[in-house]
Order: sequence, then C-alpha cells, then structure tokens
Amino acid sequence: MKAGSSANRISPTPSTAHSVPAKRRAKISSPGKKYAAIRRDLERQRKAMVDEVVEGLANPNGQEAFPDVSDQASAEAEQNFSMRIREREQRLIKKIDEALERMDQNTYGICERCEEEIPYPRLKARPVTTLCINCKTLQEQEEKARR
Ligand SMILES: [Zn+2]
Repeated sequence: MKAGSSANRISPTPSTAHSVPAKRRAKISSPGKKYAAIRRDLERQRKAMVDEVVEGLANPNGQEAFPDVSDQASAEAEQNFSMRIREREQRLIKKIDEALERMDQNTYGICERCEEEIPYPRLKARPVTTLCINCKTLQEQEEKARR
C-alpha cells in the first residue's frame, strides 16, 4: 500500500498579490538619448575597426602573401601602407572614444568653439566632429592662411 503523501500538495501561493506599480522615469528626457542612434553607429564602427586592428596585429608580417624575395620591396611598401592605415584607424578610434565620452558627460553635440549646438544632420554625417559648420569653415580658413 502506498503512502499517500500529502506533503507535495502545496497550494500555490499567489506571489503577484501585491503588485507594486513600477516607478517610471518616463518624463525625464535624458540628453544622451537624443544621440542614441549616433552612439550605436559609433560603437559599431569602433568595434569593426578594433577587430581589424587586432587582426592586423595578430598577423604582423604577411609573409605568406609575398613569398618571392623580389617582392620584398613591395612587401615593405605594403607594410608601410597598412601601418599608415592602422595609425589612421587608431586616431579615429580615439576620436570615437572621445565622442562617446562626451555623450556620457552630456557635452556631445556642442561646438568646442562657439558652444552652440551642432545641428543633428551634421553630427549624423560626421559623428566625431567637435565643431559646427561655421567654426569648421573658420578653422579651415585659418589653417589655409597659416600655410
Ligand atoms: Zn561653432
């Protein structure tokens, strides 16, 4: 004869009896949210570049690609070229980091020079820019004058 255990017959206690309405901070429009799409773009671009740089570092001398001794010169030229690319990428990665930092500090999208807000379309086109179009033009004119 089986022992009819009643121990397992625990009545399910409704734990949802006390439903506290979750506090929502809906009305606070965080300025960081404004650039969410740009942030996503920057983060994606940054990751793609970092992956590429890491890949390049993992295989620093693409020897297999240039097995011939006579190709040594072009191999070196190629390496210089990719070094330059890497430098440029690293500079851009740094700029992206700075842009992301500015987003965290809510100073993103503000012109460094005149402290006006940089129009969104410009930011979308050039997310790492720190100057509005007027100041950028001025800066370019100054650079030209210096030459
Ligand atoms: Zn400006």
